[in-house]
Amino acid sequence: MQASPLSKIVLEEREFFVKRDDLIDPYLAGNKYRKLYTLLKTPNNTYDTLISYGGSQSNAMLALAAMCQKKNWKFIYYTKKLSNTQKNKHEGNYAHALRLGMQHSEIENDYYKKFIASLRLHVNEKTCFVDQGGAVQEAKIGLEVLAQEVREQNSTLHVKAMATPSGTGTTALFLALALPEYKVYTTPCIGDVSYLKQQMNALAKIPDNLTILKPKKKYHFAKPYLEFYEIYKRLHVTGIEFDLLYAPAMWQALLEQTDENIMYIHSGGVSGNKSMLARYKKKGII
Ligand SMILES: *Cc1c(COP(=O)(O)O)cnc(C)c1O
Repeated sequence: MQASPLSKIVLEEREFFVKRDDLIDPYLAGNKYRKLYTLLKTPNNTYDTLISYGGSQSNAMLALAAMCQKKNWKFIYYTKKLSNTQKNKHEGNYAHALRLGMQHSEIENDYYKKFIASLRLHVNEKTCFVDQGGAVQEAKIGLEVLAQEVREQNSTLHVKAMATPSGTGTTALFLALALPEYKVYTTPCIGDVSYLKQQMNALAKIPDNLTILKPKKKYHFAKPYLEFYEIYKRLHVTGIEFDLLYAPAMWQALLEQTDENIMYIHSGGVSGNKSMLARYKKKGII
């Protein structure tokens, strides 16, 4: 594949470069493409089924559904019990993933943890098991590919710092490991700094070039916040759509806590914006 392009934007009189991983594919884009890179390159006949689990609107779920459709693999996805409103939505990642062939199974909340733990133990060699959010060691290779693109594209720009928001921290961690000559900024969008460090440490030792910026206050994941919407709108004016779940917290931290030239790695996820914007409306924020 060709390297994803770079765009230049101006925000609060600062210039930023944006690595347009959002343009890779409508569903399998951003850091999910990078994290699933190894699996995408796996010969189709290696597996016939892929199993994963997690949130019912997750970007990882949608990316997996898109990948399994391309690979002709059956995709089985487990979540906790969903409400009828969640199931009957015609838009959003869940509806898209079903259209891409996802087979969805709900597990009673009380058994969920145990069930997932046992699932992992019972997969056969034709089945690929992917942890929630694609937080897997194999993600490392896709991020090394991204790192190489960044090096080549940056050779005339001389930016010294990268930034990308964190959920599991897999992307930021492996990017920092693959780019030791750069500073890599991230911020936790799910849980706090210590939870993020804990998740990263489960994958690899956190390198010194990775800087975790602390959010200015405690934000709950996927909850609408006026200040996030305001950042989203300011970003929108630049002509690039960013996601509403992760990007606002990262940009807020960058604008308030850094001052150097930065390349923002767009992590995709814009397919979820329509349903998030509907929630902002419902809450009266828009
Ligand atoms: C999944 C996701 C993230 C978080 O990636 P991690 O590797 O889990 O830290 C960030 N931004 C967007 C848009 C995502 O979809």
